[in-house]
Amino acid sequence: MAREREKKISKITRGSAWLSIVFYFIAYHVVVVLLLCVVAVMFYNMLFSKISSETGSIKYLAKIYEASVRMGDDGNLDVLNTDNRPFFVKDLNGNIVYEKGRNTCSEEGINIGIPFIGREVFVYEDTEEDYFKEGVLGFALLSFSDKDADKMQAAADAHSEHLTAEPAGDDNVSFSAPAFGLLNFDAMADEIPVWLPVKVNGGRYTLVAKVSIGMDVDDIELMVALVEAFILVNLLIFVILIFSVIRNIKRQKEITDLLFKDDDTEGRNWMWFLVYAEKMLCKRRNAGRKYALVNLFFVKYRNYCVVHSLEAGKQVLRHVYHTLAGYLGKKAMVAHVSSSSFALLLEYQQPDELKYRLEQLIKELEKTNNGHKFTFQAGVALIDVCLRRGRVRRRKNVNLEKDYNDACSARETMEHSEDSGIVFYDDKLMEEQKWIDAVNEHQEKALRNEEFLVYYQPKYSPDTNELKGAEALIRWQSPEYGFVSPGRIIPIFERNGFITEIDHYMISHVARDQRRWLDKGYKCVPVSVNVSRAHFIEEDLAEQIRDMVDAAGAPRELIEIELTESAFFDDKNALISTINRLKEYGFLVSMDDFGAGYSSLNSLKDMALDVLKLDAEFFRGDADSERKEIVVSEAIRLAKSLNMRTVAEGVEEKDQVDFLAEQGCDMIQGYYFAKPMPGSEYADRMSMGTMETEEKEVD
Ligand code: C2E
Ligand code: CA
Ligand code: CA
Repeated sequence: MAREREKKISKITRGSAWLSIVFYFIAYHVVVVLLLCVVAVMFYNMLFSKISSETGSIKYLAKIYEASVRMGDDGNLDVLNTDNRPFFVKDLNGNIVYEKGRNTCSEEGINIGIPFIGREVFVYEDTEEDYFKEGVLGFALLSFSDKDADKMQAAADAHSEHLTAEPAGDDNVSFSAPAFGLLNFDAMADEIPVWLPVKVNGGRYTLVAKVSIGMDVDDIELMVALVEAFILVNLLIFVILIFSVIRNIKRQKEITDLLFKDDDTEGRNWMWFLVYAEKMLCKRRNAGRKYALVNLFFVKYRNYCVVHSLEAGKQVLRHVYHTLAGYLGKKAMVAHVSSSSFALLLEYQQPDELKYRLEQLIKELEKTNNGHKFTFQAGVALIDVCLRRGRVRRRKNVNLEKDYNDACSARETMEHSEDSGIVFYDDKLMEEQKWIDAVNEHQEKALRNEEFLVYYQPKYSPDTNELKGAEALIRWQSPEYGFVSPGRIIPIFERNGFITEIDHYMISHVARDQRRWLDKGYKCVPVSVNVSRAHFIEEDLAEQIRDMVDAAGAPRELIEIELTESAFFDDKNALISTINRLKEYGFLVSMDDFGAGYSSLNSLKDMALDVLKLDAEFFRGDADSERKEIVVSEAIRLAKSLNMRTVAEGVEEKDQVDFLAEQGCDMIQGYYFAKPMPGSEYADRMSMGTMETEEKEVD
């Protein structure tokens, strides 16, 4: 759809104003030539009909002569004297055998006819009255040279023969188109003498008689009126054409502005970018060049608009746009796509060099407002040289929208951060994107079909190896993708909001399992369930959990709610209220991942939590182990003084277990004791109660 629209737009804008000027210029001349032809044809038609009517009288003479011959008066040319016009008769050798009146016939003759129609007549000019050269017939004469004389004579002969055979018939001999000379209206008004030849006596003689042709004043006036009308029409057309060219240029500019101007920045918009960036990429001379499509994101633009005003925001956008355009120069393309996004098309040599340039650009942009630190993130999609069998080929199937989308998805991977940064789109990112799409597509169905499994990771006492609790952890047994760990789905659910459904699912499944195990006589211990930070925004979360657990018939004290440390940075009062209500209803509440990321020591004093879970990071690797040990022992001490129990996560080594036991840590959740396991295996652990380990024997 978008491509169709793009095509239409480029069709509208492709023809520049110059093209339309050239088009109109050509059209104007075609019209002028056509009009001239019409006038010329009319003129020659007039002339031709005059000559034709005179030819009639000469043919009449010829008929008289032919009649006298038939009556046996062979060769008596006196009979031709009936007409009192000058004439002469010549034989086949050109010798004059009879003449009457003054013979002023010239030796050269011409064809006169109507251009484009082909009707014509052969005439000799008069030597005394030289109208041909300067007058009206000069029109035709000017087109002939002496070299044409023979050709003309041959045409004249053919013509005469034709007349002899069919004395009263029409005259049709071919005629070459005349050149146009100047009109001589005086000459046209006079009678113009010409000599017309007609073959007689079976072609043995040629009768050449003088006739006068002339146009009357009406004819000439008509011609003048025609010429005047022609000039007027010409002028009119010219003026109309000039106006329409000007209007066209203006309209094209208006359309282009309307389509391609961005109102916020007063620069170019996305539509412009789509049309012209594609054109640039598809040019033959750019085939060997590498380009990058960049999505440049103005990180806190919306925030800035909220704090200041929309107008102030637009001013900053304008400034950013002009900095971009100025910094990148004419070789690059820049457009404002939407509120905080800009599209750039840049040529590059090496990705590293491009990255450096973008870093410099971002540094320049960060200076946009004194006293206000702006940040910008760039997602980059590389458009490489198009190669086929090792040869550079002109790009044909450029898909800018897809490339820009890739650049955007690369940029979106920085969404969690507010700092400036640059991310290149690559295959890994594409795979990730595909995976996110797949999860989005399958999540509802997976929930309906109970494809999500609840795994339990037991928590043991480091002193007694006794089972003290467990954490419920999700797994996805997908028919399409196999066994999927939570690390691959939970972050996606957190982003798309599906996490609240998952939390509900887990709580109700754990509650049902607990009920079932109690009914089977197992000695159940509290199972903790992760509740996402996003979920805590809901005001009635405590009530929702209570109702779910009650509906399953599980004792509330066997359900523990784990909150991640980061949740404590949200609305503190709402959080305290939810925690208090949860405790009031009889649930245990724990702080997960304590020590990872932000310190929430402060939160501990305000919230009456039951359990503190020390993050696995404390028990990973050897670096600074002494310092870690100090922090761990202090954290355990602090928790004890706040009446909280402690759980150490991610414990894999025996000496860690011993150390934690010494410090008085209440529970260990780690591979040392057990990995997360299906409910059935966990049930076995419950029946065992105490864990027997190789190194640590229970007394
Ligand atoms: P978490 O809540 O911190 O869960 C503990 C994670 O540490 C689990 O990973 C567990 O298998 C792992 N772990 C425990 N002991 C050890 C050990 O000794 N060594 C190592 N290497 N790892 C250990 P898991 O099951 O992959 O879960 C990862 C994260 O996914 C969880 O971290 C939690 O944040 C999230 N998650 C899992 N299930 C759910 C759920 O049902 N709801 C929510 N909201 N989040 C969940
Ligand atoms: Ca947890
Ligand atoms: Ca944890």
